[in-house]
Amino acid sequence: INEFRVNNFGAGPGCVPTEVLLEAQKELLNFQGCGKSIMEVSHRGKEFEGVINETKSNLKKLLSINDDYDVLFLQGGASSLFAGIPMNLCENGVEDTVDFIVTGSWSKQATADGKYFCKVNKVVDMEKEKFLTVTEPSQWKFSEDAKYVHYCDNETIHGIEMPITTPDHLPSNLIKVCDMSSNFLSKPIDVSKFDLIFAGAQKNAGISGITIVIIKKSLLLKTKPNVPSVFNFLKKSQNNSLDNTPPTFNIYITGLILKWIINKGGLGEIEKLNIAKAHALYNYIDGSNGFYRCSIDKIYRSRMNVVFRIQDGNIELEEKFIKEAAKENITDIKGHRSVGGLRVSLYNAITIDQTLILINFMTNFYNNNK
Ligand code: PLP
Repeated sequence: INEFRVNNFGAGPGCVPTEVLLEAQKELLNFQGCGKSIMEVSHRGKEFEGVINETKSNLKKLLSINDDYDVLFLQGGASSLFAGIPMNLCENGVEDTVDFIVTGSWSKQATADGKYFCKVNKVVDMEKEKFLTVTEPSQWKFSEDAKYVHYCDNETIHGIEMPITTPDHLPSNLIKVCDMSSNFLSKPIDVSKFDLIFAGAQKNAGISGITIVIIKKSLLLKTKPNVPSVFNFLKKSQNNSLDNTPPTFNIYITGLILKWIINKGGLGEIEKLNIAKAHALYNYIDGSNGFYRCSIDKIYRSRMNVVFRIQDGNIELEEKFIKEAAKENITDIKGHRSVGGLRVSLYNAITIDQTLILINFMTNFYNNNK
């Protein structure tokens, strides 16, 4: 099977573990003997109810989510939450202030969409530093009356990941909202430090078309009542995300991925692998005499999305690198169109062996082109 599967280092949708795809293939036509595909069963029937409840309960186990929180499965992508969150949490609309920590394209996009539903206050804006680092939390300027603070834990495009201590640096009385789209399920997290976590599934948690929301129940009770149903967090929670037709196949795939993570030994084991992969690649880049260069401040370097250049931005050589890599079955390594260069995503499904295949290719390329 792996013979024709390439080493897909894409940023999202990223690669899905082959074992998960095989499992889905095995039961594609006849889900649990019901004579229908999981794609064909009613979202209100017993088969799908089993899937959604098991998926929710496995997620709660993996992240040790206690009963103070609920888990929602929404559609519209993580981007829809850039509007959906202020819609639910800012009852006075644009008169209510929201604090944003802007560390890359995705938190910037959250301010651009959020401004239609709240007053945007940028606590810190790292764009002037080209999103290569983040200032000390002691310098962040929070407003006195913010409804909540929003930050992005891993900036997929710029390759910036916030340290695990970040929520501790936010004012304790402030409601904490975190976009974890691209590092969700890559390591254990302490959910109790957050009020709302959201993640588009298409990196480590599934396929595109589903967004997972973990929300504190006490916050749910404070949400605005007159919000349209598809965005209405309280209504979603009261109906187990089944008030309208949810993305059933996507929830099923997330369920398979959670079981895959459990079989790997849980998030602690997954984190060890992710640390090993990222260390190996960054160490190789840093030891390449400047041929390859990652300009991100070391403490903020993302384990998930490794962003780098060849000879400080030699576009011809970077294009050659991408072409030659494809011949070795190494794909989807072009940097995001807004930043250029190269980007390698080391999501959970990427193995240490695949990371070493990439480093081996980079070594040969270096020797032939230095
Ligand atoms: N937030 C982050 C960190 C992302 O990486 C992405 C997409 O890659 C999004 C939000 C937007 O997600 P979606 O494309 O599902 O709307």
